[in-house]
Amino acid sequence: MMPKKLWRLKGKLETYRYFCAAFMQAINQLYPMLTTPKKVVVTMHQKPDGDAMGSTLGLYHFLIQLGHTVTVISPTNWADFLTWMPGIKTVLDFERQTAAAEKLIDEADWIFCLDFNTLSRTKKMEEKLNKATALRILIDHHQEPQEEKFAYGASDTSKSSTCEMVYDFITGSGHEDKINVAVAECLYTGVMTDTGSFRFPATTAAVHTMVAGLKSKGIDHSKIHEHVYDNFLENRFRFIGNVLLNRMEVYYEYNTALIAIPQSDLIKFGITTGDTEGLVNYPLGIKGIKLAAIIIDRGEERKSSFRSKDGFDVNVFARKYFNGGGHMNASGGQNKEPLEEVVKKFVQAMKENKEQLSNYEF
Ligand code: 5GP
Ligand code: MN
Repeated sequence: MMPKKLWRLKGKLETYRYFCAAFMQAINQLYPMLTTPKKVVVTMHQKPDGDAMGSTLGLYHFLIQLGHTVTVISPTNWADFLTWMPGIKTVLDFERQTAAAEKLIDEADWIFCLDFNTLSRTKKMEEKLNKATALRILIDHHQEPQEEKFAYGASDTSKSSTCEMVYDFITGSGHEDKINVAVAECLYTGVMTDTGSFRFPATTAAVHTMVAGLKSKGIDHSKIHEHVYDNFLENRFRFIGNVLLNRMEVYYEYNTALIAIPQSDLIKFGITTGDTEGLVNYPLGIKGIKLAAIIIDRGEERKSSFRSKDGFDVNVFARKYFNGGGHMNASGGQNKEPLEEVVKKFVQAMKENKEQLSNYEF
């Protein structure tokens, strides 16, 4: 038996260890270390959007100027509308280049995790990230981050985008002079896509000030909009026509609209990653609609996206019914059940929320 004193000491040590492990230090603690070259991996959530790719590449273009050896790794492939981005040819796809990516993770001193709150959002990369000996650093604007997984971090749900937070990181660490055209183009892309081209409520005065700063570096913002929004193939528009005509259900009683897309549609129209981005916003444009949802049968899972206006909290909604999360007005989730089951689940969930959804003043 262990003497009482030793027991107490052991208990204290465990408590101390627990707090050390659970305590994510503020990211400004990292600033003094930024000028010592390190091996760095920068990663993002699976199926990266403009903010995920923009923030990781923006950080990449910043860190290489400080002498770090940096590689960006995406857990999966990405949409074609991102392929113009400066530096994207250096990005590794973990699913396709697993051995090379794993080696870099093993050898890294720092792993920056951008635009996601839980390691599970990196899918097949989760285990590798979890076991990594490198210091994990979080920069993210989603709710309820897994703080215990990160040594340093910045988590702020009031921020418009992770790109805005990377901008704060660069300027906060005293390196504003390192914001060159490449950094500025990447950060502009993410703040533009995550704010719905500067219309969502998180588009604060500080966002516009930042954009003025990026613009002054010489970026061509019209070109960036064109790259991202005007570069689709004809098939995507035929597909959208079919979706709006045949796959959208409007429940006026609930101020809700739902789009459910079978996998056969994706095959028929040759739909690839990124083609369905933004589709959920169409029904939100219908007068009176407060909640818009899309459920897509991607084969391996049914992926859902939710958008709302005003008070309906789709973060809570996605967490409660669809194994997901996100923000108050934009969230997503995924289910393993067949499409019809997930649709039924949605209709049931909508009915359970009738009071909140139908008591809406226009
Ligand atoms: P989207 O609908 O564009 O995929 O995602 C909207 C928002 O919800 C994004 O901020 C995204 O990070 C979050 N989100 C999407 N899917 C999931 C999910 O499965 N789990 C969690 N926690 N968040 C998600
Ligand atoms: Mn984001």
